Amino acid sequence: MQYRKIGKTGVQTGVIGLGCEHLDRKPYAQVKETIDAALEAGITHLDVFMPGREVREHIAKALGNRRKDVTIQGHIGSTDIHHQYDISRDLTVVKRYFEEYLELFGYVDFGMMFFIDSEKDYQGVFETDFIRYVLERKQQGDIRHIGFSSHNPVMARKVIETGVPEMMLFSVNPAFDLHPAEIDVLERLNAQDKLDVSAFHGLDPVRADLYKLCEQRGIGITVMKTFGAGKLLSPEHTPFARPLTVAQCIHYALTRPAVAAVMLGCQSRQEVMQAMEYFDASDEERDYSAVLGTLKSEFRGHCVYCGHCQPCPSGIDIASVNKYLDIARLDETSVPPSIRSHYLQLEHHGSECIACRSCEKRCPFDVPIVENMRLARKIFEQHT
Ligand code: SF4
Ligand code: SF4
Repeated sequence: MQYRKIGKTGVQTGVIGLGCEHLDRKPYAQVKETIDAALEAGITHLDVFMPGREVREHIAKALGNRRKDVTIQGHIGSTDIHHQYDISRDLTVVKRYFEEYLELFGYVDFGMMFFIDSEKDYQGVFETDFIRYVLERKQQGDIRHIGFSSHNPVMARKVIETGVPEMMLFSVNPAFDLHPAEIDVLERLNAQDKLDVSAFHGLDPVRADLYKLCEQRGIGITVMKTFGAGKLLSPEHTPFARPLTVAQCIHYALTRPAVAAVMLGCQSRQEVMQAMEYFDASDEERDYSAVLGTLKSEFRGHCVYCGHCQPCPSGIDIASVNKYLDIARLDETSVPPSIRSHYLQLEHHGSECIACRSCEKRCPFDVPIVENMRLARKIFEQHT
């Protein structure tokens, strides 16, 4: 397992976490087997959005005295009033479901304001007593950090700009990232007709800017829909010329700015072990540039952080330099100290570039790497 911090919360997480959705309505033995395998593999972060009491009890019982060894994302507003997953902003209902977490788990590491995808969701949270309740719970120590979940980059930005959340659970994968917020990509992937990604023009700037904003403000991202509900792995449903592999999808999400962990929906020991194969995959096996490369012209000049240009004779991690440079370019006059510090913590810097251009020959997207290294030097290394 590799570990990262979840943004400014400073909480460490394994980069692969467990999304517990598929443990819902499963027998206790299966929940125990999966939780045991996850903890043995070094998984430390669990997403428990399911409102059902039984699955929550199963997870709490399976953890037992190992509760302190994990962090839990518990969702505020996730209910099953009509025996199916539902959202509520009604405080009486919200409290009933949320306080069950406290009863079973003692406290919630990340209190997630559930599913803020629309203006109505935003108003239901921030213009009612809902937000007062969340802040009170944080003050009382029942919630260690406030987060939220969303699939919509426009609303996610609006929530972040309130200054309230410290992290978010967001849907990230290459197909979603190509599309503007108003398109429900999962619904389109589920539809019979094949989604034509060539109609779109590179990574959607609203999504790309959201990830950069998160890195800039220290909002850690945990990821859902890493595989687009499995559609991106399927030859039948992939919107690309070929399906992505599990390792490519995980690597794509983990190479977005601010991403701390992908929450994978395993439901057995075997599935946990399969997820861990990511760590044994070679750089070539993780490299997703060939799949995005089928849309080469759409990405021209823009780094997608795939790492295909490595190795560099000066040892520069080119994708990371480009990532911090992209964030700094949001506002060159005021580079956040945290971004400068991340850059300076890299082992090698843009100033070490000897302009050999071997990376530029390998980059499928014609990124002006030498120019970027010079710019990184100018922005990050002058006056230090
Ligand atoms: S410069 Fe090109 S090859 Fe290197 S990480 Fe960026 S997109 Fe990938
Ligand atoms: S051009 Fe610079 S960044 Fe690229 S491989 Fe050569 S030394 Fe490394």
